[in-house]
Amino acid sequence: MGEDYLEQRMKMIWEQINRRGLKNQRLLDAFLKVPRHRFVPEDMAEYAYSDEPLIIDCGQTISQPYIVALMTSLLNLQGDETVLEIGTGSGYQAAILAQLAKLVHTVEFHPPLAEQARKVLQELGYLNVEVHVGDGSLGWPEGGPYQGILVTAAAPEPPPPLLNQLADGGKIVLPVGSRHYQELQVWERSGDNYIRESITSVSFVPLRGQHGWSEEQWPSRL
Ligand code: SAH
Repeated sequence: MGEDYLEQRMKMIWEQINRRGLKNQRLLDAFLKVPRHRFVPEDMAEYAYSDEPLIIDCGQTISQPYIVALMTSLLNLQGDETVLEIGTGSGYQAAILAQLAKLVHTVEFHPPLAEQARKVLQELGYLNVEVHVGDGSLGWPEGGPYQGILVTAAAPEPPPPLLNQLADGGKIVLPVGSRHYQELQVWERSGDNYIRESITSVSFVPLRGQHGWSEEQWPSRL
């Protein structure tokens, strides 16, 4: 009982994150504090620190550690921000954000995933994460405006409600594209304008909902 996987976690941080160029100490500390194995199904705990995404419930995935680190680093969090995550999934990305920001709102489409994530986050004592069930392509207006928004499912284009809920100077980090090709983009708000930057190509599950992909456009099971 009580395997804490500290050694695996340190190895993951060094080999997969630091050595690939993400060296910010606050960021690395956040990854050291969050027990990733608690966010995967129990029988997969031993794979939690490997260099790959893993299947969780409802046919969804927990992103590869490096991708979580890359997306988080692009938000440049200082600690006083309110941030929004779309696609709670396992809750792991939300826990990382909770280490680095003041308050995290996270929205999940599938109720069983939201419930499980809420449970783990509560067990681990995260008081600054609020898990909501709903269509995150509409954002979560009640909690905004946000200094940072992170979307962990691929959208055809940045959902307008999310761009609207961004505070001036805030950034949204999201995969944009189809099942054939997606790129990670950052949109920074400056008044009513947005400055777009493309980072790298990525591979995420589809964003559903009003501003996401339909089941016909992008079937869940291929
Ligand atoms: N951030 C997660 C990984 C999520 S995978 C983690 O750290 O584990 C993408 C998630 O987005 C899935 O759980 C999927 O159900 C969810 N999702 C897809 N469309 C959504 C929508 N419109 N609103 C909220 N969540 C959505």
